[in-house]
Amino acid sequence: MEGVSNAGIVRWLNNSGILSPCYYRYQKGILIDQRFAQPKPWKVETVKNILRSQVYLGHMVQGRRRSEFYAGIPDRLLPKSEWTIVENTHEAIISQADFDAVQSICDLKQKEYHANLGKYDHLGKSENILKGLVYCGDCGRPMVRYKQVVKGKKVSYHYMCPNYAAMLERSGCAYKFLREDILLDALSQLIGKEIEQAVDTVRLARHLSAGKEGQITARAAELRRLNLDLERAENRKKTVMQDFLAGELSRDEYEQLKICCTGEAERLKNRILALREEQHCQSETLTGDNPWLKTFGGLQLPDRLTKELAHGLIQRITIYENDRIEVIFKYRDEREQLLTAINKEVVA
Ligand SMILES: [Zn+2]
Repeated sequence: MEGVSNAGIVRWLNNSGILSPCYYRYQKGILIDQRFAQPKPWKVETVKNILRSQVYLGHMVQGRRRSEFYAGIPDRLLPKSEWTIVENTHEAIISQADFDAVQSICDLKQKEYHANLGKYDHLGKSENILKGLVYCGDCGRPMVRYKQVVKGKKVSYHYMCPNYAAMLERSGCAYKFLREDILLDALSQLIGKEIEQAVDTVRLARHLSAGKEGQITARAAELRRLNLDLERAENRKKTVMQDFLAGELSRDEYEQLKICCTGEAERLKNRILALREEQHCQSETLTGDNPWLKTFGGLQLPDRLTKELAHGLIQRITIYENDRIEVIFKYRDEREQLLTAINKEVVA
């Protein structure tokens, strides 16, 4: 009643180390579900429920929810008029007068909230195009977009960590309040660079593959020949053993021939592996099917980043202290694979 908002109460509760209801009940052995074994911060919803609850007036409130699983109707909250309230079952911790005052404040705040909804819509509403992509670098939780109206005139959006907003310093997260337009500008620049690299890569790959057809055919022919040679070497090894068992070779002769055949087979195997690796590299660089190249290679970046584009290109955005931004694009592994293959071709 001193004019502290619900969010303010939540911050105070979290900062003074008062256990949230579920964790408290777990500690006291009232709740035994392991889900409540870890301390969780207070939530605004919980504070709202407590302020509205007649239990603290000393009344027993029952029948707030009804579930009719047998009829396939999920658990639901009933309207207040249907609750069962038995008055004065235990000692009250708040007087009726204070309770009524709190209720009228809550009603007033609720009315204000609904009156304010859409109040600044004329200043321009913008879609949260990065929803689900932005994460806190400290706690890893998705960051929320926070709308700020400056002097009732200008709207700006910022990204905040919900964990920090609820717990402040105790959250373990550094303070972050990153302006959305700054983030969007940074993303556009990074995407621009990624497109540039993809275009360069396509050019380089074309250059590398030009006039390589002869080489590819020759390599395939060599591989066929090597495979035949390997088969022969393996067969010779078998024959040598059979000859030894039939008594046509002395042990010394057999041992020597065996070493010889095995060495030959090893040499052939290594050569085959090397050629296959070259073949794989070349097919990687020659292909236009690499999903990274396909996605970024032919892209024209529009003036403004759209939701579809952001979600199509970005895997995850992580925000660290001092507005440091880390972006992971999609197809990162395929990009690395392709660039490694091209580097090998350039060296070869
Ligand atoms: Zn955080």
